Amino acid sequence: MNFHVTSSGKKLVTLIPGDGIGPEVVQSARRIIEATGAAIEWDEQEAGAKVFKRGLPSGVPQDTIESIRKTRVVLKGPLETPVGYGEKSANVTLRKLFETYGNIRPVREMPGVPTPYRGRGIDLVVVRENIEDLYAGIEYMQTPGVAEGLKLISRKGCEKIVRLAFEFARSESRRRVHCATKSNIMKLTEGMLKRTFEEISKEYPDIEASHIIIDNCAHQLVKRPEQFEVIVTTNMNGDIISDLSSALVGGLGFAPSANIGNEVAIFEAVHGSAPKYAGKNVINPTAVILSSVMMLRHLGEFEAADKIENAVLVTLEEGRVRTGDVVGYDQGTSTTVYTDMIISNLGHQSARWRVREHRPLQLPRVPSRPDLLTPKKRKVVGVDVFLESPQDSEQLGPAFEKIASGTPFHLKLISNRGTKVYPAMGAITDCVDHWRCRFVSNHGEQSVTDEQVVNLLQKISAHYTWVHVEKLLEIDGALGFTKDQGED
Ligand code: NAP
Repeated sequence: MNFHVTSSGKKLVTLIPGDGIGPEVVQSARRIIEATGAAIEWDEQEAGAKVFKRGLPSGVPQDTIESIRKTRVVLKGPLETPVGYGEKSANVTLRKLFETYGNIRPVREMPGVPTPYRGRGIDLVVVRENIEDLYAGIEYMQTPGVAEGLKLISRKGCEKIVRLAFEFARSESRRRVHCATKSNIMKLTEGMLKRTFEEISKEYPDIEASHIIIDNCAHQLVKRPEQFEVIVTTNMNGDIISDLSSALVGGLGFAPSANIGNEVAIFEAVHGSAPKYAGKNVINPTAVILSSVMMLRHLGEFEAADKIENAVLVTLEEGRVRTGDVVGYDQGTSTTVYTDMIISNLGHQSARWRVREHRPLQLPRVPSRPDLLTPKKRKVVGVDVFLESPQDSEQLGPAFEKIASGTPFHLKLISNRGTKVYPAMGAITDCVDHWRCRFVSNHGEQSVTDEQVVNLLQKISAHYTWVHVEKLLEIDGALGFTKDQGED
């Protein structure tokens, strides 16, 4: 990544103080970085509530976008997602605008922070895919009472996040990467991450690679979190397990994060703007301070980063000043006094609490072409037609067998929310008015044509309301669709 270096030889960073407690915690991190003498210069910009209130619906002004395009590195405070004016989260807008596809969340036990896991040595990193999955937010009402959300997972997205996880593990000399998926159920989407992980892991023989099912991962994280070093996972799973993991080490006050892309990286605390504490000078700034440590490493400022991390560890270990989230807000020290203490501890090291050795992170280079995979052979072997109907499966089945007669298709089955209901299997299924009719080609060797699909849809629409259509693909001989529950 090419950073912007100013005429005075400093690396320029876009600084977004943010909303609520944002300005207080960001100011704390800024003061500490400046006290190390690191060669950083700030370009302060706005985003979030103030911008929404000025009437800019994205919450991200053009000046901020231009600044980030120039600096490629952002340290930001939390941004409020307002209700009532402006609908989209400015955070998500920033992450998407700059394609920061990897969300890295370190979770480490901190000295002097009371938790049920104290002394267990938790030190793990969740690497969460940040762009795809259900978070793409592609949703449709299928019938007035049935909603659909598309879970889109790409091979390219998987390859980027898997490589990032292994590269991150290497940069921190970690020995093990777990890939956590729900591929036992979602064989194509979640399975894509698992298969990519298994393939790419061969390029990293120095790192032990294991797959774990996400629900067991959540269970194991609560039971024996110290077994994990790096966990790579899809967006939705990552959202849940990274919050779970943060809670193991003391909560949001101690949870830093980095949003990494090929071109831009955004560093921020995991927490939000905590409006009830805004302006009170009581909030714990550690999360954003540790995010700024990640930022300094990203910028190659390893000495300053280690110095700050050591000073945080020493300050917490000494326990002379502690913030309200740790000891109660009636006894906690102020944000500024806590910051002063960290500054006074710069240059000190704990005998017990060590900073990991870090090497520069090699950002993975995945080809930019959109497809990434080129199969030798593909064909369409049928079509699923989803429809809205108040009829039951015993009425729909014969009707669709009749519709299919005289076409190049036959009706293989009808399902309701993924369970086969026709031909009947004697199961008890509580059906809704959204049906999937699976039509399979009568001429298996030839690919189904678009014209044949359109003709079938025309016949269906003379009697029924179809709501969407999916082609059934076979790619290099493998089924490109899943079977229904109960389908042979
Ligand atoms: P929040 O701001 O994270 O606050 C929830 C609670 O977490 C606080 O009440 C406090 O708990 C604790 N907390 C947060 N930051 C802390 C810190 N630095 N030190 C100690 N404790 C801390 O979540 P929210 O109230 O759900 O969201 C408020 C706003 O922030 C919303 O507009 C939301 O959209 C936005 N948000 C932004 C981001 C982001 O910019 N990345 C992330 C999340 C949320 P106690 O009440 O127990 O003291």
